[in-house]
Amino acid sequence: QAAFRRDLARLLELIGTGKESLSFMKKRIRHLAQQWLRAARRLEQKLAGRQRDQKHILIHIGFLTEESGDVFSPRVLKGGPLGEMVQWADILAALFMLGHSLRVTVSLKELQRWVLGYIEVWVEAAGLKRLGRLFAHLTGLLGVPPGRGNCPLTSPLPFDLIYTDYHGLQQMKQHMGLSFKKYRCRVRVIDTFGTEPAYNHEEYATLRGYRTNWGYWNLQPTQFMTMFPHTPDNSFMGFVSEELNQTERQLIKANKVSSMAVVYGKEASIWKGKEKFLAILNKYMEIHGTVYYETQRPPEVPAFVKNHGLLPQHEFQQLLRKAKLFIGFGFPYEGPAPLEAIANGCVFLQARFNPPHSSLNHEFFRGKPTSREATVSRKQQPFQQGLQDPAGTTVFQVSSQHPYAEDFIGKPHVWTVDYNNSEEFEAAIKTIMRTQVDPYLPYEYTCEGMLERIHAYIQHQDFCTTSSVPPSPKTKSPAMQSPPSPLALSPNSTHLVWSPRAGWAPQAWPPVASLQVWVSEPQHTCTQTCRRRGLVCEPTFFRFLNKEEVFLQLSIVCDSTEYEMNHLYPAVAENVHECYLQKEPLLFSCAGYNPKYRRLCPCRDFRRGQVALCRDCL
Ligand code: UDP
Repeated sequence: QAAFRRDLARLLELIGTGKESLSFMKKRIRHLAQQWLRAARRLEQKLAGRQRDQKHILIHIGFLTEESGDVFSPRVLKGGPLGEMVQWADILAALFMLGHSLRVTVSLKELQRWVLGYIEVWVEAAGLKRLGRLFAHLTGLLGVPPGRGNCPLTSPLPFDLIYTDYHGLQQMKQHMGLSFKKYRCRVRVIDTFGTEPAYNHEEYATLRGYRTNWGYWNLQPTQFMTMFPHTPDNSFMGFVSEELNQTERQLIKANKVSSMAVVYGKEASIWKGKEKFLAILNKYMEIHGTVYYETQRPPEVPAFVKNHGLLPQHEFQQLLRKAKLFIGFGFPYEGPAPLEAIANGCVFLQARFNPPHSSLNHEFFRGKPTSREATVSRKQQPFQQGLQDPAGTTVFQVSSQHPYAEDFIGKPHVWTVDYNNSEEFEAAIKTIMRTQVDPYLPYEYTCEGMLERIHAYIQHQDFCTTSSVPPSPKTKSPAMQSPPSPLALSPNSTHLVWSPRAGWAPQAWPPVASLQVWVSEPQHTCTQTCRRRGLVCEPTFFRFLNKEEVFLQLSIVCDSTEYEMNHLYPAVAENVHECYLQKEPLLFSCAGYNPKYRRLCPCRDFRRGQVALCRDCL
């Protein structure tokens, strides 16, 4: 049983010392400690003594290891990407507060000590039992700690879960040999922008040209965990932002300087070529920056800007508390800072990207395992306010610098405008200066929200027991041998719902009662299709609708039905009455569309402010 922790001191020891990046994370954890403690107490009450297993968890932060170059640690003081560090600090804090037993590694040597010392890698890889025994003896002599009192070679991996990143994954694969395959179901990959199923499946990606620089891992797509909930194919991990109490909120509102703007961008390159916008902004507001510099002002930052240099995180928050406007110039994409600004009562102004940026048209995303593809119709209402989007969505596209801020928060906190239109830009600044806005933080970015989500993942996501993995059909029509469809047509005949009358309730998480099956328009992905109904696409449910009879139930005429590997299936090519089912469960995907097909889409409800969880998911 895991017990909620009452302080974070032990975690700070576990994190270790010797790198700027580690100091940054520890400082953040210390600063947010009270907030974590309060949130843990609230969640504890909410869960009311529910059984929670304590897990042994390894956190291997691959990008901070010397072996993968550790380009980040030296840049921490110079404004390099801190977003990753913010997220790892919060993951560590959340896992610790939930009461799990943690081990943190930031070098290959430590990884080898804690992982490779235990597993049967040598024996398995070479089939050389004797060499294995010799190795056991040697590791004993070298002081490699034995696994829970057992001989290293006979004990299994002593971690139930491993949180790592793409760099760490590569290191594990390289050094674990065959054991990697055996244990990869325990891995969770922290992956900022996400990995779409079509890019994850090696054979399919190679065949179809889904090129990536990050490898093809054949993991369950929900083992990848993202920074923002833009792709339901992956799990949403997130991070937290500072929360305000009532007094602080009042104080912030009283002390806001309506003519003060802070520019989003701590690296000088971000300011390059932005003179025109800065000049317009300078007509109305005092402009502040937090751009790193050594001795003199970076040439990209005009003299009229008050540059503070890179600030420690809590001082940056103080600056945001005074400012009215936080303004983005297009880069970095999808970082934490806009959420912090909005949480501190700023309005975030950013440029609309038309066309949206993606791996197909923009250097930054090239080679990343995601296309972020969708058709765009007109803009929809903000998502979290629970409004249906009748026109299609853009949420998972990079349609602005910060699509989450644009789509999940929206006005009055977020303004996304066409920067090519100077009048629109200028008008937005003038209106923002006049508008009163309260500090706002979506629940999913509070400490409680993050604890709740990670708690649910840890207790319910299981990629190791085979029953949680959908069976892979080998024959042409395996649907005939599997249990009958547990779905029924809804009373208004537009979609299918889960039918309790089916007489069997599979062990599933999210619980199947939240499932609704909708058929997409030809030009829509499943992500869009579900969102248009005020729902979210839930890829773990695809297995329930990948059946011939589901087409029948939806009155779809199939002259033929084939099982094939295609990330758009199950789907129907309506004009020729050809129906297709998915042959490879790893390819079930909410992303992707082709005007040739209408897709069968598994949708579910979600908690207000916590899109990762369905109503009965806790
Ligand atoms: N930040 C900071 N000092 C500053 C400006 C920003 O510590 O002067 C922090 C900020 O609080 C945020 C983090 O840097 O949590 C990452 O910010 P950003 O959104 O720029 O993302 P990145 O590109 O660094 O991943």
